[in-house]
Amino acid sequence: MRFPDFFKCAKRPIISFEIFPPKTEKALENLLQVIPELIELSPDYITVTYGAMGSTREKTLEIASLIKQHYNMETACHLTCVGASQREIDNILMRIYKAGIQNIVALRGDPPRGERDFSAPADGYSYAYQLVEHIRRFEKTFIGQENFFGIAVAGYPEKHIEAPSLEEDILHLKRKVEAGADIVITQLFFNNEFYFNFVKKAKALNISVPIIPGLMPIVSVRQIKRITSMCGATIPPSLQEELEEAIDDDEKASEIGIRQCIKQARELLENGVPGLHFYVLNKSQHISRIMSAIKPYIYPKS
Ligand code: FAD
Repeated sequence: MRFPDFFKCAKRPIISFEIFPPKTEKALENLLQVIPELIELSPDYITVTYGAMGSTREKTLEIASLIKQHYNMETACHLTCVGASQREIDNILMRIYKAGIQNIVALRGDPPRGERDFSAPADGYSYAYQLVEHIRRFEKTFIGQENFFGIAVAGYPEKHIEAPSLEEDILHLKRKVEAGADIVITQLFFNNEFYFNFVKKAKALNISVPIIPGLMPIVSVRQIKRITSMCGATIPPSLQEELEEAIDDDEKASEIGIRQCIKQARELLENGVPGLHFYVLNKSQHISRIMSAIKPYIYPKS
């Protein structure tokens, strides 16, 4: 089932989880144990990220295929423009197609560590909208079916870190949607006002596809500081203050993260969001507690 089919006639918010291919064998073993626990929580689909470079890239398709085939759960492969020529993109798309995966999260990717600007690989792309256009061309040429893939693109409620303004960034988001994206999944944020404002501005520009808020439950203070400094999401002062008390205590950080995530998710659901996308960081316990707490908001009559 493709992304747009999930949202077209949905009678309730659509829930998705995002996992990443681990770098070590041990972490992979651990993820393989976590996957059935995540599936127990009945998300509608699971997306698997694409590593900046190197070995984890191969694992994106492997893990997405395993989830789809072994657990009969819908999946999406993330795909970036980093280090890939158009021909290489075709090769990856063909493998995704042959694996029976129908959804792609199409991204530009980040510049390599230490570099400020993204430079397009030889015969490759500079922006995600070009990758979306490429996927739509690929479907027609190699699959013979338009809109075979469901395509998601990234949105940034606090603007993308390189963008001069939120307004300009949303204009670029519009281009991704015009190129053929079916849904937008947002970067993580800790203040729902950023999301509400972002959706309002996107709608004012006639972006009418579902915009799914991305939520990351905090599991470690150091980790969330590293992630937010890379992606530009801000931590509100009150949350920051709480987290200062948990710098060396992941259990405490996790408790704060669960509380924060439940609070945000409930408010978003009360305001009628089309779905929630959880960055679950390859763990299940925290998301299990979060899902229990928000279940009545997802399935009001159950
Ligand atoms: P783009 O949409 O191309 O935007 C990049 C920048 O260029 C923005 O500042 C934008 O405003 C600007 N821009 C866009 N078009 C134009 C134009 N025509 N002219 C001038 N400027 C323009 N990274 C990974 O490496 N692997 C992953 O699996 C992954 N998954 C992600 C999933 C989600 C839901 C999100 C939110 C992010 C993910 N990322 C991932 C991170 C993402 O790759 C980075 O944020 C990257 O820096 C931007 O990617 P993008 O697709 O948003 O790029």
